[in-house]
Amino acid sequence: MHDTAESAYEWPACSPCGRALRHDELGRTGCRLCQSRTDELLRKLPGGDGLYARLATRLVPGRGGDGSVVSVSRTPPLPLRLEPLSLMARGGVVTVLQTWQVDWHEQLGWRHPRWNGGLQQQLDQAVHALRLNLEWAAASHPAFGEFAQEVGSLVRQCERQITGERAERPVAVTCPCGTVLRITISTPGARCQGCSQQYARSEVLDLPLAQRAAA
Ligand SMILES: [Zn+2]
Ligand SMILES: [Zn+2]
Repeated sequence: MHDTAESAYEWPACSPCGRALRHDELGRTGCRLCQSRTDELLRKLPGGDGLYARLATRLVPGRGGDGSVVSVSRTPPLPLRLEPLSLMARGGVVTVLQTWQVDWHEQLGWRHPRWNGGLQQQLDQAVHALRLNLEWAAASHPAFGEFAQEVGSLVRQCERQITGERAERPVAVTCPCGTVLRITISTPGARCQGCSQQYARSEVLDLPLAQRAAA
């Protein structure tokens, strides 16, 4: 057998999750599942009861998740917690999403987008615009994988602030080639550094757990 380009041909895979694209998805950057998963994530952010608005309830340390207001009269103001603040402020969630929106407008040859009002309104507007064009982005934007990953990361960071959960612990699994892959439960997929095998989410979670290192 000759080692031709043909024999090295790989079936096109979804950029966010690594799953082989179905026949009716060929030519797309991301599969339809990743598109709807990303849409679900985006839908969690806007609105008065969305994740972004709820970050404000986590700014004061020591305040319970029940939303009750603690009276702090006569005691000095508590310092604000930095993690929710950095997600809420300019440069956080709103700016990341707006940066993508600007990028999409450039890709589509549209004018620079405009936003009005405060950060909450700007977030709502950016999410609305991204969801409207998500079908195009999942099908045609070369960086849709990066976008999906970034949205997933933002939503997880907001959820962690609101629920007070710790960061997901990485899990070590072993590829049949012997390489150990560090993944998290919410991983969209992974590529083995050893043999370059691309695993979809369900496949990577099926790999055997790595033996604990001796040391
Ligand atoms: Zn996918
Ligand atoms: Zn491998």
